[in-house]
Amino acid sequence: MASKNVSRREFIRRNSLTGLSAMLSPSLFTNSMDSPATPVSDVPISIIHTTSSSPALLGGAPVRTKSWPTWPIWKPETDEKQLLEVIRSGIWSRANVATEFEQKWAQALGVKRSLLVVNGTNALIIALSQLDIRAGDEVLVPPYTFIATVSAVLATGAMPIFVDVDPATFQIDPAKIEAKITVRTKAIIPVHILGLPAQMNQILPIAKKHNLVVIEDACQAHLAEINHQKVGTFGSAGCFSFQNSKNLAIGEGGAVVSNDDAFMDRCFSYQNFGNPYGAGVGSVSVGSIRQGNKLRTTEYQAAIGLAQLARLDAQTTTRNENAAYLKAQIEKIPGIVPYKLYDDVTRAAFHLFPFRYQKEGFKGLPRAAFLKALQAEGIPCSNGYATLNNQPYLNDAFRSKNFQKVYPKERLDFKQYVAQNQCPENDKLCNEEAVWFTQNMLLGTKEDMNDIAAAIEKVHKNADELIKLSKK
Ligand SMILES: *Cc1c(COP(=O)(O)O)cnc(C)c1O
Repeated sequence: MASKNVSRREFIRRNSLTGLSAMLSPSLFTNSMDSPATPVSDVPISIIHTTSSSPALLGGAPVRTKSWPTWPIWKPETDEKQLLEVIRSGIWSRANVATEFEQKWAQALGVKRSLLVVNGTNALIIALSQLDIRAGDEVLVPPYTFIATVSAVLATGAMPIFVDVDPATFQIDPAKIEAKITVRTKAIIPVHILGLPAQMNQILPIAKKHNLVVIEDACQAHLAEINHQKVGTFGSAGCFSFQNSKNLAIGEGGAVVSNDDAFMDRCFSYQNFGNPYGAGVGSVSVGSIRQGNKLRTTEYQAAIGLAQLARLDAQTTTRNENAAYLKAQIEKIPGIVPYKLYDDVTRAAFHLFPFRYQKEGFKGLPRAAFLKALQAEGIPCSNGYATLNNQPYLNDAFRSKNFQKVYPKERLDFKQYVAQNQCPENDKLCNEEAVWFTQNMLLGTKEDMNDIAAAIEKVHKNADELIKLSKK
């Protein structure tokens, strides 16, 4: 089963390739997403509620044997025309289709400019470097995120400093930011983690007061909104990922967005060897004006992106409706505390559906045993992230020549760093409480949500027996 150290991607991979339980596997390979209006489940929730069948882990019938909506979605009728045109044209390196995607993505977000690049990690690195975040600087990050947020900071030579989370929302806790600011703090990366918006109306004034650059990591938050403004458009830059698991999937891909033309020109230049903004692919004599990199996308990735973008808005609506419905179904169960959205959130992206599992509500059944029981009922689920603020990758960076030449010895003392970057709320989320469902499950029907709720209730009802089993 999904152990504590299984990454989100590994979870999704296992989930979609091998199936979390054998009965899911055959139909996972069919493209059931083509008809999201799956027929009504055979067993109405009211019947499941009153059934006394024993847990699937103990040989009972599972609540669900049907497959879940697969991801990503590909519809040949609508999705293949432009892709084939691109492939047949022989123009494969970035050109007009990439520009078309950038314009449409900017339009979808209500932002002036967008730049399509190789991935979200490098979107963050580009944004950091072109906002002049460098070796010796400190950058505030939440510990409850995908590792790429922190890797991007380390790649610039800057030092990540962790600010603990608000466990109710899973987001960086604005009340804990100021205590972490020093003379060296130059930037903050609010991450709209799980696709739920961070509390920007608190974060932005603090950043302004302390003159911090704000780079939003919106890699999981496509089309999420605060007061009807899309996330990724509040800071100096917003960064997105189009990796296979993300709500807009290209396979690999990322974007930087901003309203600042000069900044976006620099970003474009950086991803194209430092050539001046506007220099085309194949220019070899235009002269490079800045230290650059090569992070260009391809035309066929852009064509896939355009096909996916066409359905993103409708999918986002479905995820919001199903998430709200599921939340209402399960929040009454003792020990289940679903995510909370901040008051000004008008739409979330729900890359994941998170809740806190509090074992006291389940007679002390450990989270790992809860997950195993739920998976056996036909409900894929995971415990989410491991703590990021104490892992060896940090020490590896600190021991590199680049870090050793820039930072005084005591600041590279890993033990001391870990002690100064404690995040107890995050520890509790990662090690004890967080549970996730993936976004593709939220593309199903209300009956699918009923199955999830029924399975959780069944596990709850059978907690005694499951505890005995977990102790065997
Ligand atoms: C996926 C992700 C990234 C990195 O994006 P890639 O495209 O995989 O490089 C960064 N931050 C967060 C929060 C992510 O979920």
